Amino acid sequence: MGEHRRKFLAAGLATLHRTGLDRLIGRWIDTAGYIFMLHRVQPECPDRPANQWGFSPNRFLSITPDFLEQVIVTLKNQDIDCISLDDACERLKKKDFRRRFACFTLDDGYRDNRDWAYPVFARHNVPFTIYVCSSFAGQRGQVWWMALEHMILGRSQLEFSWRGETRLLDCRTPQQKQLVFEQLFNWLRNMAPQEQRSCLAAIADQLSFDLPEHCARLMLDWQSLGELANDPLVTLGGHTKSHFALARLPEAQARQEIAQGLAEMHMHLGQRPQHFCFPYGDRRSAGSRDFELVRTLGLTSAVTTRKGAIPAREDLNFYALPRISLNGEFQSITYLETLLTGTPFALLNIIKSKEHINGRKI
Ligand SMILES: [Zn+2]
Repeated sequence: MGEHRRKFLAAGLATLHRTGLDRLIGRWIDTAGYIFMLHRVQPECPDRPANQWGFSPNRFLSITPDFLEQVIVTLKNQDIDCISLDDACERLKKKDFRRRFACFTLDDGYRDNRDWAYPVFARHNVPFTIYVCSSFAGQRGQVWWMALEHMILGRSQLEFSWRGETRLLDCRTPQQKQLVFEQLFNWLRNMAPQEQRSCLAAIADQLSFDLPEHCARLMLDWQSLGELANDPLVTLGGHTKSHFALARLPEAQARQEIAQGLAEMHMHLGQRPQHFCFPYGDRRSAGSRDFELVRTLGLTSAVTTRKGAIPAREDLNFYALPRISLNGEFQSITYLETLLTGTPFALLNIIKSKEHINGRKI
């Protein structure tokens, strides 16, 4: 997230809170509950050399165990029930909107989920779900957004060739590193899914960066996941095989990505997951075709990264559930309290529907 956008959002949330508008508008919003989206939970940047503090492009994916604890305490103080996804889906199916619920979900299957998040959840007896990408658990996937950061972090220059073109990028200072990251991230993000992986593999090869070792260092393996799943607090959900943006794949391949991820989980963990999470989960990565694919595969629910609380509504689509990001750049209980009123999402929807009416691209 750009610094300007971050400051703008932070100022907006603070204003809503300070003026009390969030609570005022919130009284008219019927909320059934919240599904929180997390990725990594760890103390602040443990692997960052002191001279590179300014470069942390994936920081928004990471919150501290202390903040997680504060969030849980805040929810309990507001009399919100922290429950499993299974229980939340049961309530939603029964249209039981008497009490608000909160579910915690963690995407991708990072090792720190076990090392740092699990003890906090266990201490407070709070259920949570980890969405497992099967190639990551098999320690052969490309956690490409993290790999890109780590390739840039340890180097003052990046030199590589791709499709006959050589690039030489300076990345000595944290600012240069950030620019190079953004440039390469956007370049890779816009490639066709398979080409993206071939390109990253080629870059890693030329830089002698060991992608499988990187994946193994970051992500939980099947054995650790199996051990975690023995705890009734833990639910494991599917997150595809390769972490491709499904909407950008032909239908047969998208279906295969979902089904293979689930089948590998079934094989290694002895249970077929009932819940699913769309990789990236934004509008251009997961659309109505993909929601329908997940439904026909017989799953109970699927979450996106579309922003919002779960509305207390009869016609809820269980395969396109919105979530609230616990974002590493907004680790503040004040912001959380404003998000819990539902007001920022209601305002966002009004802006989006106006943009639709005006025919602007959103
Ligand atoms: Zn993911």
